[in-house]
Amino acid sequence: MSSLESIQYKCPNCSADLRFNPKKQGFACEYCDSFFTPEECKQANEQMQREQQEQASASDEFAEQNQLFICQSCGAELMTDSDTTATECLYCHNPVILKGRLSGEYKPSKVIPFKISREEAVQIFRNWCKKRKFLPKDFISESQLVHLHGVYVPFWVADCHVHGIMHADCHKLKHWTSGDYKYTEISEFDVFREADLDFNGIPADGQSKVDDNLMEAIEPFDYRDTVNFEMSYLSGFLSDKYDVNKAQVFPRVRNRAVNGSDMLLRSSMTGYDSVRVLQSDMNVLSTKWQYMLLPVWFMTFHYQGKQYDFAINGQSGKQAGTPPLNSKKLLLVCILISILCGCIGFLGGLL
Ligand SMILES: [Zn+2]
Ligand SMILES: [Zn+2]
Repeated sequence: MSSLESIQYKCPNCSADLRFNPKKQGFACEYCDSFFTPEECKQANEQMQREQQEQASASDEFAEQNQLFICQSCGAELMTDSDTTATECLYCHNPVILKGRLSGEYKPSKVIPFKISREEAVQIFRNWCKKRKFLPKDFISESQLVHLHGVYVPFWVADCHVHGIMHADCHKLKHWTSGDYKYTEISEFDVFREADLDFNGIPADGQSKVDDNLMEAIEPFDYRDTVNFEMSYLSGFLSDKYDVNKAQVFPRVRNRAVNGSDMLLRSSMTGYDSVRVLQSDMNVLSTKWQYMLLPVWFMTFHYQGKQYDFAINGQSGKQAGTPPLNSKKLLLVCILISILCGCIGFLGGLL
């Protein structure tokens, strides 16, 4: 057995175990399809080990200080600090029970703290309701406001290091006229590009219970407010634990990094009349993940067998959601309008 095979390397992009591929003489990740030369793999793994050791002590502290609440009805796992108590589930409003602590691996590295207070969130919600007719009575009642929760939604934010190689067949054309003849001179160039590129801050939402479209609707978040995570930010707020891991979001992240690299190298081939790319090989060599919490005021409403979600960006105050419609109210108004029309018709007939 060679020394390469005896070491269990982890994938520098998604942390899964890597397998040595004797044919290609390198390491392949079966989970995310990445491939690394032994040298790339060794370098990235040494770096990962150094970072893990740094994080280990902070993770222990986190594991001792958080509280984990579980909803036995829908399975939601909610986390908060040791001073905050969760009583109901964010999603289904059933009671939650304390179920110990989250392990250190769930320690977020960054957070964007809340800027919108509960009072402001309530005001935003009321204004939103005012503009909408036919809302069910329960939805606008004071008691529904109990279900408005300040939630830190888990996000994966990736920094990708890409090694890119591009080979293209390029042409320059020169036209001129001499006497009765038109001439065209075609010069052909064999163009190569090789580059090391870094993409920072590619986000992907890590919670399957939170509707991706709703989260996109309250974007953008201003990442300049990002700070290192500390337990104190959780005080009075809940956080949902991620249930989509980085390996699962990596294909989406990689697509953006690979497409971005491809575009950058293409755009560097200027001054030609035509560019035909023969080979584009963009390889994500390592990914640095940040598990980040983003602030959202979140409320669900259950009505006629359906769940309606309402969200406010806890940083900017931008709101989104689908309003539930009271079909009885709507029907009543329709009947009133038709009666009114009928009366007008009747009066018209009399006059
Ligand atoms: Zn992988
Ligand atoms: Zn629940």
